[in-house]
Amino acid sequence: MNKNNSIDDILLEVPIGWQNWTREIIANITGNFPHVRIDQVKEKFGLLRIYTSGEKPGDAVILLDIIAIAESKSATLCCACGSFSENPLLTAKNHFPEPFLCEHCMHRLEHGTII
Ligand SMILES: [Zn+2]
Repeated sequence: MNKNNSIDDILLEVPIGWQNWTREIIANITGNFPHVRIDQVKEKFGLLRIYTSGEKPGDAVILLDIIAIAESKSATLCCACGSFSENPLLTAKNHFPEPFLCEHCMHRLEHGTII
């Protein structure tokens, strides 16, 4: 994260439904690794990607674990409403590689009540 960028600027790169959850992950990283910079956070191929720099030796395992778990969980997190789905494979398949929409939001999308 560029020192001039606020967390809100960083979060503009992720879908609206992911923003609160992503904010918690960033807080977890910066809280546990204050020397680590968050260079970029974005959605790519339907997954949350977090790019960091400035890691110290010994950070890698835990830091990469946090990032990998977040990336994996993002596949089941609705990009519109931010709820985790109970059957992500069923609906994610219909939308791959776009960010995942839960069944409720998929229904709203099909009926034109969300963009
Ligand atoms: Zn949803």
